[in-house]
Amino acid sequence: MSIDTSNIRAQFPILERKIYGRPLVYLDNAASSQVPNRVVEAISTAYTHAKANVHRGNHLLSQEATDAMELGRIAAARLINAPSREEIIFTRGTTEALNLVATTVGETLNEGDEVIVSAMEHHSNIVPWHLLSRRKDIVIKVIPVLTNGSLDLEAYADMLSHRTRIVSVCHASNVLGTINPVKQMAKMAHGVGALFCVDGAQSAPHSVVDVQDIDCDFFAFSAHKVYGPTGIGVLYGRRAILEQLPPYQGGGEMIGHVHWNDITWADIPFKFEAGTPDYIGAAAMASAVEFVEEVGMNNIAAHEHQLAEYARQQMASIPGTRFFGNAPERCGVISFLIGHAHHYDTGMLLDKMGIAVRTGHHCAQPLMDTLGVEGTVRASFAIYNTAEEVDTFVAALRRIAPLLDQ
Ligand SMILES: *Cc1c(COP(=O)(O)O)cnc(C)c1O
Repeated sequence: MSIDTSNIRAQFPILERKIYGRPLVYLDNAASSQVPNRVVEAISTAYTHAKANVHRGNHLLSQEATDAMELGRIAAARLINAPSREEIIFTRGTTEALNLVATTVGETLNEGDEVIVSAMEHHSNIVPWHLLSRRKDIVIKVIPVLTNGSLDLEAYADMLSHRTRIVSVCHASNVLGTINPVKQMAKMAHGVGALFCVDGAQSAPHSVVDVQDIDCDFFAFSAHKVYGPTGIGVLYGRRAILEQLPPYQGGGEMIGHVHWNDITWADIPFKFEAGTPDYIGAAAMASAVEFVEEVGMNNIAAHEHQLAEYARQQMASIPGTRFFGNAPERCGVISFLIGHAHHYDTGMLLDKMGIAVRTGHHCAQPLMDTLGVEGTVRASFAIYNTAEEVDTFVAALRRIAPLLDQ
């Protein structure tokens, strides 16, 4: 492997933990990645030396807190190559970012307007649109998934029409690992005058993202999946669109002025950031982005891809192993089942051996219906994982496979 993981692993003290007396093998990175020391230090330093509310104060601490938060915004813009920091809205995470899009764009939709999502979406890119459809008489169309785990682009092309107002799809599936051709899909959506929104929760941590190259109108991700803190995420929005959309929530910070008979909104991005933001989380996100930049996103992507492919090869020789997601373009996510054994049993036995994987429907129940399963076991990789850990994981699977009720 081209990456010296020992140097990287040293920055993540949690990786030295023992689980039931065994070394932790953390393969649940698609749910949340671990954080390097520098992120913890950024949080700790902010709480101990520089805590004050942002924007509202003109005292030194407040100015420092504001500057630190804005450095987080600039770092987030760099991570996805957004043209300007004003187009970066801080949210609680991908979920809130997608709710913001569904709510504000939703307000501009009329009866009979159509929204397109895909059959491999996370609940956070399904339920907000579902909620919208209860408030407004809109139509939700769903791009089907082919048996190999790719999206059916022909069906997508047929669905697009002058009634389509927005298309919202994941860049990479948290279940199948499929990387969707969002650049091509954005072009198709724009061809009928529709907006294009990308759920980037699984691409921002694992691949080089360029929102200008994709030419999307929105892009959402969560810091806690990109080596950053919990509770903060980003919605990138194209300036011209953000300027036209109504606000999301009302409160402090998002207004120009407020009088009983007259109210105006703040400029973007603040129009969409009501209330005190997670300014310490935002500042710490800058440290996470610096970590990523130091290692290099290309290196991260290549390393994870190598590990995932190696794991799949090894796992394929375990009798009964079924993989879900065989699209040609995949990220470092492996969904599988051993025979007909329950995903939970597999996950529990792995846990007893120190191996953390995710089991269940992965917040994608409609996709589970399509796959005809209740849930899967998911192993997902990050830059600090090693080939030795893959060996430990595969050896554990080999040991437990005969014990499972297949
Ligand atoms: C994790 C995830 C989300 C939700 O992210 P939160 O951080 O829980 O808001 C949305 N979409 C995908 C594809 C995800 O993997």
